[in-house]
Amino acid sequence: MAEKNQKLNRRAFVGDALRVAGAVGIVGTTAALAVRKKPSGKLVWQLDPNKCIACGNCATYCVLDESAVKCVHSFAMCGYCDLCTGYFRPEPISLDSGAENQLCPTGAIRRAFIEDPYYEYTIDQQLCIGCGKCVKGCSAFGNGSLYLQVQQDRCKNCNECAIAAACPSQAFCRVPLENPYLLKTQEQQG
Ligand code: SF4
Ligand code: SF4
Ligand code: SF4
Repeated sequence: MAEKNQKLNRRAFVGDALRVAGAVGIVGTTAALAVRKKPSGKLVWQLDPNKCIACGNCATYCVLDESAVKCVHSFAMCGYCDLCTGYFRPEPISLDSGAENQLCPTGAIRRAFIEDPYYEYTIDQQLCIGCGKCVKGCSAFGNGSLYLQVQQDRCKNCNECAIAAACPSQAFCRVPLENPYLLKTQEQQG
């Protein structure tokens, strides 16, 4: 069991490094380059996942037709659960990928078998609308590894962010362009 956990942790670590980098997107890459030059002093909007209560406003208040906020997944924090409460509706008919069992309204979460009894969950950001349903499910009963972030390659960086004004938990803040994501890590969980 210990060996299996080690294996999974190693896989999760490698996966996290690669896939969180994917979530960071174009601006993150640009920002990393900018760090090596000089800080711009420019600020962009981001939400603090530790303050977010997944109220649903991120999906509906953005000025864009499709919200700039989308779900990301910290693989290093994930329990790779068979019964994932971010993926399955409460009391699913069966633990399979049937649409009737899924919590996500757009089918944006892919469930893939790894090895008994572990499953990996990946977000298709093209399909994600930032509704936060999976975030709420994962936070309530799981490890909180699914969470929302403003995708900087989509965000218009409005002077006054409409979601920030509507956020009931004051989760939005301005962060430096050079470091525009507030990523959850295993360490933060203590
Ligand atoms: S449940 Fe909502 S936030 Fe989660 S992946 Fe699906 S669309 Fe995105
Ligand atoms: S700054 Fe504008 S585009 Fe970006 S998340 Fe807020 S409302 Fe949406
Ligand atoms: S509006 Fe605030 S609390 Fe609601 S989902 Fe967005 S960041 Fe989370």
